[in-house]
Amino acid sequence: MKDINLLDESLINKIAAGEVIERPAAVVKELIENSLDADATRISVEIVDSGKKLVRIIDNGTGMNEENAKKSILRHATSKIQTTDDLFSINTLGFRGEALASVAAISKFSLITQQENQLEGYNLLVEGGNITKSTICSAEKGTTIEIRDLFFNTPARKKFLKTDAVELRHIIDVVSRYALANDSVGFKLTHQGKSLLNSPAVDSQQDNISSVYGVKVAKELLGVEFQNGSGTIKVKGFVSKPYDARNDKNQQNIFVNGRWIKNEDLSRAIYDAYHSLLFVGKHPVFVLHLELDSSKIDVNVHPTKQEIKFEQKKEVENTVFSAVKETLRQNDLIPVMNFETEEQTSFISDEVVGKRPVETKSTILTLTPTPKYQFEPSEQQVLYVEKEKTNKVTTTDPFVTTIQKVTNGLQDTQDPQTSQDPQPSVAQEQAPTNVALPPLKILGQIHKTFFVAETPGGIVFIDQHVVQERVLYERFMEQLLNSNVAVQNLLQGEVLEFAPSEKVNVLDNLENLTQLGFQLEEFGENAFVLKTIPTLFGRLQPKEILYELLNDFSQGNGKNKLEEVQEEIITRMACRASVKAGDTMTIPEIQKLLDELKQTKLPYTCPHGRAILIKMNVDELERKFHRK
Ligand code: ADP
Ligand code: MG
Repeated sequence: MKDINLLDESLINKIAAGEVIERPAAVVKELIENSLDADATRISVEIVDSGKKLVRIIDNGTGMNEENAKKSILRHATSKIQTTDDLFSINTLGFRGEALASVAAISKFSLITQQENQLEGYNLLVEGGNITKSTICSAEKGTTIEIRDLFFNTPARKKFLKTDAVELRHIIDVVSRYALANDSVGFKLTHQGKSLLNSPAVDSQQDNISSVYGVKVAKELLGVEFQNGSGTIKVKGFVSKPYDARNDKNQQNIFVNGRWIKNEDLSRAIYDAYHSLLFVGKHPVFVLHLELDSSKIDVNVHPTKQEIKFEQKKEVENTVFSAVKETLRQNDLIPVMNFETEEQTSFISDEVVGKRPVETKSTILTLTPTPKYQFEPSEQQVLYVEKEKTNKVTTTDPFVTTIQKVTNGLQDTQDPQTSQDPQPSVAQEQAPTNVALPPLKILGQIHKTFFVAETPGGIVFIDQHVVQERVLYERFMEQLLNSNVAVQNLLQGEVLEFAPSEKVNVLDNLENLTQLGFQLEEFGENAFVLKTIPTLFGRLQPKEILYELLNDFSQGNGKNKLEEVQEEIITRMACRASVKAGDTMTIPEIQKLLDELKQTKLPYTCPHGRAILIKMNVDELERKFHRK
């Protein structure tokens, strides 16, 4: 064994830089965090060659005096915490005191800073961790930091950098996140002198989202405002309507006390809230701000400070789940037919960063896994939501779409008593927590495929197949969850033969099959008699569906086989048993089906996430006919 050496400061900083600064975007992140911690209201980020050549950040924050500026590039030098107690209740973005030291160790670094009401500023130049210049200079209030030739003295690290397009994309993501998290701070990002993002300081979060993601995306978002029963966790922000979901996850943001975080479990809670509303392979847009006591979280989990530990992990996840679920439940989710060509807006054109692979619209449907979270709003949560609801009707919220206003207005006029009536009517008391469908006046069926109905503000097209799919799916699911599947007896019974290996599978799953309404009895060596089938799926060929069920069970593993595959099975059975395009339906039949749809919890999409209804607004028609 060789002798042990104590590493010198410059080597220590280079090693630390490996953890904190893995790419130019990490430099941008650390410097923006410092500017925000210094109370800047304007932050400008200028990039050359995707940050490989230059990252320059100019802020109008507090600035530093000479002494502090010199200290700022030392390792473990921070103005943000002092004691261990501070570490467990962090209210700043930085606290580890290692970003500037790390960056200055692996680049050609320049810092110019001046405090308010000071006549002079201070300029410090550092190369590879060594100070090369330290002078008084004239500057403006705030701090400008330039990082040139990042990784110039750590060539191995430089080799790991991705293409310019990828590195730039990371930088855009970072700046976008901070812009989204800070409505009252103006952000600018330029690359090779061209503006990529300009997000001025604004009063409202909607306006802020518009400047980052574009007006079109922001206009369609649904506002979220929710808190848990005890009021210790607050969730505020916006989520997209299911049909406005995107092909990628780039527009998903969770902030905790203003810090952008990565957290798989919280993302999962949000997807679960969209459960069966999202088309498979589609991803919702969300910008959600969580606020909770800083002593209940630990941000010191990873050097990049993007991971976080929650003391009340489950409670936080449940609150986020309920917040999104409630928002989706309260809002009208009918897609409005867009006469313009639909495309995803992005504030940056693809040429700037190189084309990203475009996913083609997949027609193959796979299923989202069964959600982990069950929605049971506590009493207080419901109250809170109710309050929100009433607010909504009275406020003129530009983000409430036309149809919402119309429906809300209609409900108001149709039932003027309800709002004053202190005694809820029986109907109200018993009303399920369903999403209300707007009033529909059926006009007929077209192409033996769609129903057409008039609705306030427009007309609605309804896909007859998916209506029934949703109805059957929910009814059967309910029966199954209550262990109460209605069955119909087969008088004769149907004899089914199986190969010996299949027989084992059947015997293994007799109980599961019975729960689903298929009761089998052994009959001779390799045969069974099918005694019952589920009433709801009477239209199906029992034999065919049984073979499929057995196949599904053989994919599942362990005791919870049925739970694992039930969703897939029921979705498939509901699809098979539903009326198909091409089936003629009379108005009373249509009416009955739509009444059944109204009873469902999620009347807007089929269990695969496909839209059931699409609306065409009258104003759009009027515009097309040049009446407006
Ligand atoms: P940390 O942010 O964890 O404290 P950094 O290495 O990022 O550590 O910064 C060190 C210190 O330098 C900060 O604590 C702060 O006092 C000061 N500082 C850095 N950037 C700025 C800035 N843009 N404006 C004012 N002070 C700054
Ligand atoms: Mg910092």
